This record gives sequence, structure tokens and C-alpha cells, in this order.
Amino acid sequence: MADIRAIQSERLSTFRTQHDFQFYGEFQTVEEFLEFQRWASANSHRLYILGNGSNTLYTRRRIRTLILKNRLDAWMNDLGEGRLECSSSLPVMRILKHCEASNLDSFYYLASVPATFGGALAMNAGLGVGGTIYDFVESVTYIEDGRILTVRCEDLERAHRKTMFTGVHDRLIISGIVKFPSRPLESSEIRKRIEWCHSHQDIRFPNCGSVFRTYTPWILRRIRGLPVAGIKYPFFHTQFTRKVNNWIICNNRSSWPIVCLIRFVQGIHRLFGKRAETELIEVD
Ligand SMILES: Cc1cc2nc3c(=O)[nH]c(=O)nc-3n(C[C@H](O)[C@H](O)[C@H](O)COP(=O)(O)OP(=O)(O)OC[C@H]3O[C@@H](n4cnc5c(N)ncnc54)[C@H](O)[C@@H]3O)c2cc1C
Repeated sequence: MADIRAIQSERLSTFRTQHDFQFYGEFQTVEEFLEFQRWASANSHRLYILGNGSNTLYTRRRIRTLILKNRLDAWMNDLGEGRLECSSSLPVMRILKHCEASNLDSFYYLASVPATFGGALAMNAGLGVGGTIYDFVESVTYIEDGRILTVRCEDLERAHRKTMFTGVHDRLIISGIVKFPSRPLESSEIRKRIEWCHSHQDIRFPNCGSVFRTYTPWILRRIRGLPVAGIKYPFFHTQFTRKVNNWIICNNRSSWPIVCLIRFVQGIHRLFGKRAETELIEVD
């Protein structure tokens, strides 16, 4: 029987906010995932597949969605000629290290992203403008309605930070095949990206990277200074970073200040007849 527990944790999102998860489970095999899925459907529960939680915002103290942590084996098969088949639970960094050691081009811009391969595929992870992981993807294998399906990259619908796997849903990405062209590397692309992040991004406090998928830059630029010194205010400890336009940093055990900032930005957008859509996946 599916092992579903109630837990309290601050490890299920890189915001490190603490929540009471009423329904939490981990799956190591596809069969275990299917068992959880059956339980969720029989009990009319929404189900959330969790990678590394680096794009996940829990909006309430008590979370009632069934949270399923991906604990499939983290394997990688070298298929030759720059082609790799990778499990969805594999950290993106493992793929990048392999590419660097083999003199292959890759999505090195994701070296700063604490994602699983499955999470990066689901989110169409990439640069703010330009390259994404799908520049290198051949196919994705996933489970839907108990069937294992493989979709080729060109047939997979996607938009900026969005695919058919984004959000609260029950389609599990099992693995994917990526292909990297060879490229002689003179220095470490991973190190370069990490150095760039240290100077251009704000990693002093817990965060989930960019908050909004779509927004109006001038509106956000004007309001992101509020509240002034928010990270230092007792009980709030949250603000937009001053280094990047679209990141919230949070040093609070509770997620309500993050939710307040997001709703505030969305409200101001509405006043101007615009929309601010979150890139963060909100789970309650
Ligand atoms: C410091 C920092 C820097 C970042 N920089 C970037 C950046 O440069 N570019 C960028 O695009 N993002 C960036 N992000 C955001 C985030 O890392 C990415 O969105 C990442 O792809 C999320 O991966 P994850 O494994 O943590 O996914 P999670 O947050 O766990 O999940 C995100 C979504 O993916 C789905 N999902 C996860 N695994 C699976 C699976 N196996 N099958 C089906 N669905 C699945 C979830 O259900 C959810 O909808 C950054 C985050 C941080 C903390």
C-alpha cells in the first residue's frame, strides 16, 4: 500500500519555508508512483510531483496536496556520439560535469540551477532570453494514465518556462534523451557560470530564482524596492533582491511574505491593465 505520511519540513522548497505536509510520499519505482496516483484519484486528491523544489512555492502553512518526491534511480546511460539517456531524478549538474569532461557543448547556463533533470524538462529551464534545455533534447519518456509514452522534442508543446508537465499534475517524466555536439573547451564552463552568478545574482538568502514568467519590467523595477530593507524587518524577512529584477529572497520560515509580495505585484499590474504570471509553481 502507498506509504503516505504527514511530515513537517523546510526541505521541500529552496525557499526553505516550513510547512505541515498532510500527505507526503516518495516513490523509487514507476509502480510505486502508479500506486500513489491510484490513491490520489480514489481520494480525489491533487498530486504534485516534486523534483528538487527549486521552483516550488508552498502558499499555506498546511499543505493538503499529495506531494510526491521523485526518488527514482538517478542513472545516466552514455549512448555514444554525444547522446545521453538520463533519469528524471538526476541532478542537472551531473550531466554538465559529464559534458565538460567529454568536451561537449551543453546547457552550461544551468550550472547555477539546483534542478533535477525532470524538473528542468518540466519547466523548459534556460536563459532569461535565448537558449533552453530543449536545444539539446531529442525525446522525453513519461507516464500518462498508466501508459509509458515517448514524445519527440519537436512534438512537445512548450512556451517560456512552460510545458505540458508544468504545475500541479500527474504526468511523471521518467527519463529523457539529450544530444550534445562536441566542442573543445578551453576552460571550465561550469566554473565560469558559477562565477558569473556570484557577481550577478543574489544567493545570500534562500530563493527559487525568477518569480514571474511574464511581467512588465518597468512596473516591477519601480515596486521591487518595497518594502525598503524587507529582509531585515522582523516577521517579514523577505524582499526582491536589488541585484536582479525578478527574484525574491526570503529568510523567513513562513511563506506568507512571499505570497504577499507576489499578490502586490500582480495587483499593481492589474491596475495598469497588465498581467504578471508566476513562473514559480504555487502549491497549497
Ligand atoms: C538559485 C536558483 C537559480 C535558478 N536559475 C534558473 C535559471 O537560470 N533558469 C531557469 O529556467 N530556472 C532557474 N531556476 C528555477 C528552477 O531551478 C528551475 O525551474 C528548475 O528547472 C526546477 O527544477 P526542480 O527539479 O527543482 O523542480 P521542482 O521545483 O521540484 O518542480 C518544478 C515543476 O516541475 C515539475 N516536475 C519536476 N519533476 C518532474 C518529473 N519528473 N515529471 C514531471 N514533472 C516534474 C513539478 O511538478 C513542477 O511543476 C533557479 C532556481 C534557483 C534556486
